[in-house]
Amino acid sequence: MGDELLKSQNYSKLSDSFGRVARKLRISITDRCNMRCIYCMPYNNTEWFEQDNILSYKEILKLATIFSGLGVKKIRLTGGEPTVRPKMEDLIRSLSKINGIESVSMTTNGLLLSEGKAKQLKEAGLGSVNISLDTFKADRFKSICGIDGLNQVLASIQAADDAGLKLKINTVVVRGWNDDEVVDFARFARSTGYTVRFIEFMPLDGSGIWEPNLVFSKREMIERIKKNVKELVPLQNDSSEPAMLYSFIDGKGTVGFIPSMTEPFCQYCDRIRITSDGRFLTCLFENTGGGYDLKSLLRSGRSDDYIRRYILECIVKKPEGVISIIETKTLKPTINLMHRIGG
Ligand code: SAM
Ligand code: SF4
Repeated sequence: MGDELLKSQNYSKLSDSFGRVARKLRISITDRCNMRCIYCMPYNNTEWFEQDNILSYKEILKLATIFSGLGVKKIRLTGGEPTVRPKMEDLIRSLSKINGIESVSMTTNGLLLSEGKAKQLKEAGLGSVNISLDTFKADRFKSICGIDGLNQVLASIQAADDAGLKLKINTVVVRGWNDDEVVDFARFARSTGYTVRFIEFMPLDGSGIWEPNLVFSKREMIERIKKNVKELVPLQNDSSEPAMLYSFIDGKGTVGFIPSMTEPFCQYCDRIRITSDGRFLTCLFENTGGGYDLKSLLRSGRSDDYIRRYILECIVKKPEGVISIIETKTLKPTINLMHRIGG
């Protein structure tokens, strides 16, 4: 590792060469999933990582502790589908006890989030949950997610709420698939009080179907909501949050937009990721052949200090983000695989 490099940077901070400091860590705990969303999974995907290749909970904890020492404050568990991995409550309990970690949250498709499970995870230390839902139509749910699960997901939203978990709904909007439901989701946000965050479709799908035309933009969503529901007013936004939040002019309901394609928030990005097979990704759109291999360092017995220095060396190389890819017109389908990164 370049000691000169380390001398020239702050040892204790995950600062990149653009001055951004990472404070949020997303950990994918499995690449497996009980859904087959067409904007995420490869068609007929059967190539899961071998169990041996997946980080154990002990290894995840070790890395999380190292990252926390470098300034990470918030951890989000994701997948694939995190709830398919057994005993995730044990992991949550341990993660939430790490010195410096302020919150542990999860992004889930909700299929396995029963009332009992939601309570169990909350008791273990889970603070909040983002549940993904793209449609209120059962047949469409099946064609987008590959499974008949609408009612289970709706029940899981209720279960998470009842368990006292903070809750947001994630809705990926794809032109021609579900953009006609943006208004229904906005009304849902108003009637339930749950924040619905609309996400623009990103070229991270395993099947390579992404194309620019399928991106239904934030601007289009806002126009549609204003026309059919009510005027929106931008809220004071936290620049480190990818979602731009709006309330309705009558104060009833909040919606957010994650315009990753049309208004990328890369310049404020404070996130980093660990894949389930133990690779470190400094950016969703990173082109490092799948990230930096932390698992090998762990398994070859490298010291914590060595791993810490390696992480600091990698973070410096964090790319500018999707902006430069858009500007150089090199955006193409399937830059990385979402179900392995976890969003
Ligand atoms: N299985 C969990 C779920 O679906 O919530 C967690 C993993 S999933 C990869 C995390 C988030 O990424 C979900 O909200 C999902 O809708 C979103 N997502 C997946 N593929 C996407 C894509 N190509 N563009 C934008 N968002 C995507
Ligand atoms: Fe599974 Fe989530 Fe990807 Fe859907 S978005 S296939 S639920 S990992």
